[in-house]
Amino acid sequence: MKPQTDDPTSAQPPNIASLDQSSCTSADDLDRGAHADLDLIEAIDSRLPQTQCARCGYDGCRPYATAIAAGRAEINQCPPGGTATIEGLAGLLHRQPMPLDPARGAEPAQAVVALIDEPLCIGCFKCVLVCPVDAIVGAPGLMHTVIAADCSGCELCLPVCPTDCISLPVRAATLPSPAAMAPRWRELHRARSIRLADDRLLLDQQRQQRRSAALQSQAANVDIAAAIARARARRSPPTSS
Ligand code: SF4
Ligand code: SF4
Ligand code: SF4
Repeated sequence: MKPQTDDPTSAQPPNIASLDQSSCTSADDLDRGAHADLDLIEAIDSRLPQTQCARCGYDGCRPYATAIAAGRAEINQCPPGGTATIEGLAGLLHRQPMPLDPARGAEPAQAVVALIDEPLCIGCFKCVLVCPVDAIVGAPGLMHTVIAADCSGCELCLPVCPTDCISLPVRAATLPSPAAMAPRWRELHRARSIRLADDRLLLDQQRQQRRSAALQSQAANVDIAAAIARARARRSPPTSS
């Protein structure tokens, strides 16, 4: 793994005036508006810590960035980013900084990573299913372990563990810093989201195939019943009065 070192805060603020699509007059204008929206979402997302913890109320940093860009969310909903993130977003969007929304939780005092007490792990796989950055390895029925560097400290695995064998020690200084890991966490979360969407699509297709097979089978049964009825009718012609 090669952590990226680009400073996300060095990105130029987008031209927010260009985002007003009500002034678009042609398909080209609309296309430019859509790109401006994407630029803004990218710029906002690059200022978020990428722990993908969902404390902002969205399923990851990118959905939260999209909601801010659309004016559906405030800039003070990210506890892991805390004051620094609020100030970064305020500067980008030419807004006044505001205090962190206390309903989202407090700004963490230090970065943490999950640690599994392996002898207590029963291999239920529940933590793997909720980890937003695929930082847990293990197979059903087998002991699981956390890839410490990849763990964003989101804490989502804690409440699902039936044996309470996951703890959250402080992130070791020997590990890459959260800021250095942010681009990788963004990529891991994006890859996971694509995989889950593919899985959902596959399930939908399988459901559709089963439904269509059941309908065909019902139609075939109706055809057979009708054929039997016709054959019986031929064998027993109506009696003349
Ligand atoms: S770090 Fe957590 S709270 Fe902050 S934007 Fe990302 S998902 Fe939301
Ligand atoms: S291992 Fe746990 S704390 Fe770490 S990223 Fe995954 S779900 Fe979050
Ligand atoms: S949720 Fe807990 S018991 Fe289940 S696999 Fe993960 S660490 Fe092991």
